[in-house]
Amino acid sequence: MSSYLKNYKVIAKDDLPAVCAFGITFTAVTLNAPMHIRYLLQKLSQGYDIRVVRQKVSSLQSAFISRETSLVFNCTGNAARCLPGVEDPKCFPTRGQVILAKAGQISCSVMRHGRDYETYVIPRPGSNGNVILGGFMQKGVSTGDTFSEETESILERTKSMLADLDSPDTEVLAVFSGIRPSREGGARVSLEEIDISKTQQKGLVVQNYGAGGTGFQAGHGMATDAVMLAEGVLQNILSGHEKFRPLL
Ligand SMILES: Cc1cc2nc3c(=O)[nH]c(=O)nc-3n(C[C@H](O)[C@H](O)[C@H](O)COP(=O)(O)OP(=O)(O)OC[C@H]3O[C@@H](n4cnc5c(N)ncnc54)[C@H](O)[C@@H]3O)c2cc1C
Repeated sequence: MSSYLKNYKVIAKDDLPAVCAFGITFTAVTLNAPMHIRYLLQKLSQGYDIRVVRQKVSSLQSAFISRETSLVFNCTGNAARCLPGVEDPKCFPTRGQVILAKAGQISCSVMRHGRDYETYVIPRPGSNGNVILGGFMQKGVSTGDTFSEETESILERTKSMLADLDSPDTEVLAVFSGIRPSREGGARVSLEEIDISKTQQKGLVVQNYGAGGTGFQAGHGMATDAVMLAEGVLQNILSGHEKFRPLL
């Protein structure tokens, strides 16, 4: 058992709901996702002096914005299926809907997983009592709309799973839906050389997409692998920039 998983314990069958075949409890790290993204952005822009430019690219080739561009990391998530130059047919969307609720009485995460079934209650650290209630795992569905019947289903399932949630103190704050960037066979982290112009000029690309429903959990490992694939090229780039320290 990984040393990251503390207090691992199998729950006795008698203590599980009748429909559950197996259950465990353990202590693990929980991220506040929006806060984590802000932290990473701050670390990159302040700690490493990286300039962030938000711009839509029309193809993978067009990400080579000048002749000096030596390397492109392709981390386009769901767009990898259709973006010219990538067009990976193994990519597909997996929709989920969640509720952001105020429920300060909840202090630990509870989840129930089954085939195409997801019910979870996850307190958000550092949010003054907010919890995420979910969810859905709809393969091939890509609408960003939210549906009231799904909100009802999530409330019904999470409250029956965790009695403390079924209280007047629980207040629905917002409902969201999101699309997980899934990929048959799992994420793609690889280095390749592509043609970037009609004159067959070559460009190096690190593909890094297809994290599915685990981009926050697996993102650091994927990024480490992605950087290691291009270590030699990166060393060359960084040696010209005194200010940079190793990225990971
Ligand atoms: C309901 C739900 C619950 C989830 N729960 C968890 C969880 O518990 N744990 C976990 O680890 N993960 C979870 N995830 C999954 C997690 O959100 C994703 O794995 C993660 O966001 C993927 O990150 P990414 O950077 O690879 O892709 P994305 O976050 O999709 O980022 C791709 C980026 O590429 C940009 N882009 C695309 N095309 C172009 C273009 N042509 N030009 C320029 N930019 C472009 C997009 O604008 C976007 O910013 C959940 C997701 C959902 C929807």
